[in-house]
Order: sequence, then C-alpha cells, then structure tokens
Amino acid sequence: MRPIPAGSVPGSAVRACPDASDADESPSAAWIKLAVLSDGLSVEPSFVSWFADQRGFAQRRNVYNTPVWGHEGALPQEIRLGGVVIAVNAYGASPWTLTWAGHDTGPRLRHRASGGEWSVEMVADLESLRTDTELASLANLYGGSALSFFTPRACYFFADSTQCRFCSLAGTAREQDSFANRLTPDQIRYAVDAVLAREPGRINQVMIVGGNERNLDRGFANHVALVQAAADAIAAHGLGERISVHLATMPPHDLDRIDALGAVRGVHVMFNLEVWDEDAFERIAPGKHRDYGRTRMMQALARLREAIGQYQAHSILIAGLEPAKSTVEGARALADMGISPIVNAYHSDRHSELGLTIRPSYRHLAAVAAGLQRVHEDYPVCPYWRGCGRNALDYEAAHGLFRGPVPRLD
Ligand code: SF4
Repeated sequence: MRPIPAGSVPGSAVRACPDASDADESPSAAWIKLAVLSDGLSVEPSFVSWFADQRGFAQRRNVYNTPVWGHEGALPQEIRLGGVVIAVNAYGASPWTLTWAGHDTGPRLRHRASGGEWSVEMVADLESLRTDTELASLANLYGGSALSFFTPRACYFFADSTQCRFCSLAGTAREQDSFANRLTPDQIRYAVDAVLAREPGRINQVMIVGGNERNLDRGFANHVALVQAAADAIAAHGLGERISVHLATMPPHDLDRIDALGAVRGVHVMFNLEVWDEDAFERIAPGKHRDYGRTRMMQALARLREAIGQYQAHSILIAGLEPAKSTVEGARALADMGISPIVNAYHSDRHSELGLTIRPSYRHLAAVAAGLQRVHEDYPVCPYWRGCGRNALDYEAAHGLFRGPVPRLD
C-alpha cells in the first residue's frame, strides 16, 4: 500500500483542519473501506474465539446504534487497515470476512471473491474505560481517538414516530441500559479530566452527540454547557491546541443562541440535513421536516458558520439514501456556503426503520467518494472526524485517497 505524500492535499493547511497533512493512509485502503461499508463484514469463528480472549482492544458497546445482526459475543467497533479506520458493521453473510490464522499473521481481512487478504489492526481501548465502570457508563471511545458522550440518550422524535428512518437510538437504549441517559457538565468535566490525567496522549477530539428534547432551545443550551465543560477540562490540561471539541445536535429555534458557541475555541459543530434532496429530507427525517424544516436548517447552518468560523460548521449527508449525484451536489453546495459537508456511508442498524432494506453498492459509494474528492480539491473543507470516522469518507478525501480510477472490488 502506497502512503500519500504529506501535505499533498489542496486546502490541507486550513486552520480548521489541524492534522490534514500528518497521516499515512493508503489509497487502496480507502477504496476497500467503501467496499466493506457497502457489504458489511462477517466474522469467522477463528476471529471470534481469538477476539474473545483479548483484553486491551475496544469492543462494540452499542451506545446509540446497533449495526450487528445475528451475532452474539464481543466484536471490535472498528478495524484499522493501512491507517484507515473502518466500521465493523456485521450484517450477516458478506464477501468480506475477518479471520485469524495464528500469531504469525494476526487478524486479517479477507475478500472471498478475489482471494485478497490484508493485515488489520485492532483499536486499543482506553485503559481508563476498560477498568473504571463509572467512567465507562459515561463515555465511549469512538474510532480509536475520539472520547465520545451521547446525551440525552433519547430523542423526542421517537415519541412522535417521526424519528429519522435510519436511526436506532430508542431500541438500542432499551436493549443496552449500562450507559447514563443524561449527562451533566460536571460529569463531562470529570470524565474528560480522568481520561486526560490517566492517558494524556490517546485522544485528539471530544465528541458530544445528542439525542434531542422537545424544547430545542433548552436542549441546545444544555449541549452548549456540555461543550464548554469539555473545553474547560481540556484547557486545564493545557491541551487546547491538540484536542478539539465537537458537537452534534439539532439547532435551536432561537438562532441567537447559536452565538454562544463562538466562545468555545476551535469547536466543530454539526446540524445535520442527513440528505440533500428536499423530498428525501421529508421522507428520511420527518421530525426535522415537520418541526424545523429544511429552509430553517440552512439558516441555522449559515448562522453557525458566522458564530464559529468557516468550515468548522458541518452537516452530514448519508450516502445511500438518495442518488449519488444528489449527495455530491449537496456536498458541493454546502462547501460553497463555507460549511464542511460530512459524508457517511449508510449503515444498517437493528431497531431502525430502514434496517437492511437499503444497502448502498460499492459503485454508489465510489461515485460519491470521487465527487467528494473533487469538492475537497476545490474548497478548504475539513473532516469532522479527525481520522476516526469509521463510516465517513471525509478524512480519506481530505488526504486525496479517492483520486484516480475506481478499483474493482465488487
Ligand atoms: S435527530 Fe434523528 S438521528 Fe438524531 S437522535 Fe433524533 S431521530 Fe436519531
């Protein structure tokens, strides 16, 4: 696998992307990621029994979603292939399998159709989460380098049956009750401080993700307080330059409230459209359509950009829920506004309404990735996940890994 030269990506020097030129990924790994996100992974018994005996690796914890179907027992949340982080979404039979063939070779990713095999790395867990059950009830490690908090662990759209059709939050929370449902600023401060005190070099971002309460203004204010608590804890360790704070939330009705985020240095925030096409927005995110509306969402994004800076405001588009052309058109339109698009491959979660009824093909994801690559070359857009976006295509596009012809992997 050929590493790309550091700093070869146009726009990589933008202030909002502190680590866009220090990676060592490989183009082929990025294309493999797309194929694996399309098909999901199956796990061979050799891998399952090897992984069950391991202690230091991050295991899937099902905090807010459950992309594992028909498998009991421990699985990793993600694997690393040539520096690229890939989600372990296990939908059942797949041409891609995780296998273990002994200590000489270690864990491997195998592609049955081509006979290709690649060494993969497991993601080391945070020792503090592994050994401290109180801490583990508050936080998770996402993609190996993001300390993540999900709060509130509920969303009122489920009560109204208007939840986003891909979202599995309510069923996941019912099934897995070992996580706190609502976090306070003190809990965030405590958890960030504990992890930084015990393992200062392990994380590069803190993520706070909701869940939304019906009063969007109050819910937003709560999220801002949590963001501030995380930023304070990071600053107390003198790590503000290295660790950024990231928030995913619904925007408030009162747009003036967004300006409060301007006080948090280097913050990244996403208000998510989920899909670009207007009809698809109504179909895929009926609660957002009914209670907020796409036009207002665009106004909120523009206000966010003014409050926290160009390209530190983000919005997700999910590849696979609308035509590839529409996703790429949306990514470009957002970039043109000074908003960094986030492009995630659709993952099929148990407990979600869409579940396995949709699977984007490799060719579909490759078309989106190639289009996104051009957006990254034309605008200084910034990935939301700093190398840990297991279902996202942005970090790879920021490093030019989707340039050139699409390799045959289907
Ligand atoms: S806004 Fe949509 S995606 Fe987010 S938690 Fe609610 S239902 Fe799920």
